Amino acid sequence: MIAKVIVDVNSKRVDKLFDYSVPEHLESDIVPGQRVVVPFGPRKIQGYVIAVTDNADYDKLKPIIAIQDFIPELTPELIDLSEWMSYSHVSKRIAVLDAMLPNAVKGKYKKIFRLIDNETMPQELTQYFKEAILTLERAQQLEIVPLIKPYIEAGDVVEDIEVSQKYQKKTFVGVKLKYTNVDEIISQLRSETQIRAIELIHDAGELTLIELKEEGISNAVVNNLVQKGFLEKINIETTRDPYAHKIFFEDKEKVLHEEQQAAYNAVMASINNNQSETFLLHGITGSGKTEVYLQLIKEVLDKGQDAIVLVPEIALTPQMVYRFKSRFGDEVAVLHSGLSNGERYDEWRKIKMGEARVSVGARSSIFAPFKNIGIIIIDEEHETTYKQEDYPRYHAREIAEWRAQYHHCPLVLGSATPSLESYARAEKGVYTKLEMLTRANKSAMPEMIVSNMRDELMSGNRSMFSNVLHDKIQEKIDKGEQVVLFLNRRGHAQFMLCRDCGHVPMCPNCDISLTYHKYTDELKCHYCGHKEPPVNTCPSCESEHIREMGVGTQKVEEIIYQTFQNVKVIRMDNDTTRKKGAHERLLEQFKNGEANILLGTQMIAKGLDFPNITLVGVLNADTMLNLPDFRASEKTFQLITQVAGRAGRSDKLGEVVIQTYNPEHYAIQHAVNYDYKAFFKEEMEYRRLGKYPPYFYMIYLNMQHYNLKTVLTESKHIHDILVQHLSPKAYILGPAPSPIARINNQHRFQVLIKFKSEPELLKALNYLDDHYHELFVKDKFSLHIDINPYMM
Ligand code: ADP
Ligand code: ZN
Ligand code: ZN
Repeated sequence: MIAKVIVDVNSKRVDKLFDYSVPEHLESDIVPGQRVVVPFGPRKIQGYVIAVTDNADYDKLKPIIAIQDFIPELTPELIDLSEWMSYSHVSKRIAVLDAMLPNAVKGKYKKIFRLIDNETMPQELTQYFKEAILTLERAQQLEIVPLIKPYIEAGDVVEDIEVSQKYQKKTFVGVKLKYTNVDEIISQLRSETQIRAIELIHDAGELTLIELKEEGISNAVVNNLVQKGFLEKINIETTRDPYAHKIFFEDKEKVLHEEQQAAYNAVMASINNNQSETFLLHGITGSGKTEVYLQLIKEVLDKGQDAIVLVPEIALTPQMVYRFKSRFGDEVAVLHSGLSNGERYDEWRKIKMGEARVSVGARSSIFAPFKNIGIIIIDEEHETTYKQEDYPRYHAREIAEWRAQYHHCPLVLGSATPSLESYARAEKGVYTKLEMLTRANKSAMPEMIVSNMRDELMSGNRSMFSNVLHDKIQEKIDKGEQVVLFLNRRGHAQFMLCRDCGHVPMCPNCDISLTYHKYTDELKCHYCGHKEPPVNTCPSCESEHIREMGVGTQKVEEIIYQTFQNVKVIRMDNDTTRKKGAHERLLEQFKNGEANILLGTQMIAKGLDFPNITLVGVLNADTMLNLPDFRASEKTFQLITQVAGRAGRSDKLGEVVIQTYNPEHYAIQHAVNYDYKAFFKEEMEYRRLGKYPPYFYMIYLNMQHYNLKTVLTESKHIHDILVQHLSPKAYILGPAPSPIARINNQHRFQVLIKFKSEPELLKALNYLDDHYHELFVKDKFSLHIDINPYMM
């Protein structure tokens, strides 16, 4: 027996399948999709079994050392998908396979043998079990794996545990601060990592060593801090079912209203015919999309099939999860980054073992290893978080389409503000368009008021609140109603600026301004981590009028307390939600009326459904418009619509105040009028003129090297190869310096391709990827290829 294996090495052409012989004792167990340990040169490394055959392409094969997951993590479908993805997304197959599995299921040498009963075991074996537990690694070294196997099968002598100990335990070793005064501790530390560790632990209250490791803090660093007396080791109990302590009230099915019923019927037809069809469900916020999803999933489960639901990470609020849990109970597995490794492992395992049949999760849960999918749903399909920005750079929608075709099932894309790409496809008939344009509970859409901040300035109002917003906030507070204030942080960096000469402190390694961090009182580079103290006088003109620009949520919170009476604010941003469960706790507090203002960033834009919110204020609606991004208008339109959807979800009328310096901009105008179609039309014209998606596809190539001359030469070479392979109809722009022309002293150039249809393109890109992989290994020249890029 021969196993064809994709191995985890980065030093060779890695997409080749390597042949290994299967030792006799593993023959009955080996199947494709398993992770295995194999010899590779002098090393032992991990790999994935892609196929099991009886003919080898080579002789003198080395044997597989061990199988890591007896029940394979990957299904045959996912193995096929990885092949397609590696070509269509120009990625190494090993990287694709790795991206499919949560890290939690990929520990090293996970197998452990535990002795249950040593009475019946031969003497020579028990000696190996002195410590009662034997790791696979040691069992390999001692070459006793074949000897133990019969006992494992008998089941009463040796227990075979698939996971590393780390995930078996319910308590984890963790640390907390020994003293409450962090500043005091930090002042005594020198190493950056130590300071970061202290900051993290302070923010979170307590952290496990595993969590710290995930943040790049090693045990050595922690131990050192324990020795110095700053930290205390503790045991941290973790519940493995993240929702175990929750009670879910049964959520009754609602009688669908007319628009819901029509949407439901259309998708049901496709479910019943086992037909892969993509639907775009354009439904305004509150139109009852989620109720439609729930009822469709129920039918799919009744047919004995599984369902995948994707929601953006930030929409994975407890509220959303509750709706699925209360309808389908334990059949729901939830996958998102807020889970601990152990929890994620357990949720994944529930899917793999067929215990859960619905997964609700963020982007990467599109790879959930279901075997019989009956429906895939992507809620808020326009969200950019569905695009993975790291290698392999895939979009969950593309993967969903592939899987829906494989399983002959429908794919439903839902949104109040569909991406232009999807809406254009629906207009062309590639997707089936379904519309829900009224609110399910008949409540009126909130009234939108635009505050022109230029006028406010001219009339002498220098505060961050327009007069209208100011008065309305106080009015709601006095009435005992609740307010949501939204601060748009995108395109809103906090940098230092000299008011006299315009000097901005820049990173010495990267062509980017340094960001001011109040908590540590430092200027930091977000790209390379460079730090320096803030300056009091301008290094360029010696003026003292140099200070931080742009306000953060912390500053806004201060201002709110100074401006309003009887106010209590809950602030939600990256700082206040870092601790596990904090997001949930803050929302719970707000729901219970413990504050009258919820102030937050992007993360509060969706998912909130609280009846007492009657006013939403968008403090800076237009900061994003100035970003050099062809989607800037689209994102602005989406954001205003989403945020406005938080107001007046019940019988109380909601109001929304939009503060902007560009009140006449079409994105703002159409959002305020709730007119998606008018926005679509106007934005499409702009895209057509600019040759942007959805009229053209785009590919972004980024070249980096420390030597400017090398990067320039190679970029030109890449450009020439593309010209040779593509038709004259494709636009090949560049090579040109990237907007940030240098990061961490690596010079960066880019080439942008715009095209409609180029049959040879993927071939050319894969050729370039292979070719430059070698140059990467030799000389660290790197080429990134991004298909349908979102960030450039
Ligand atoms: P969306 O996902 O489109 O924003 P939801 O599904 O959250 O909308 O529905 C908005 C509100 O209307 C929710 O409180 C939901 O319980 C309620 N709702 C949905 N469908 C119905 C219906 N058919 N009858 C009554 N209430 C409904
Ligand atoms: Zn100056
Ligand atoms: Zn830098």
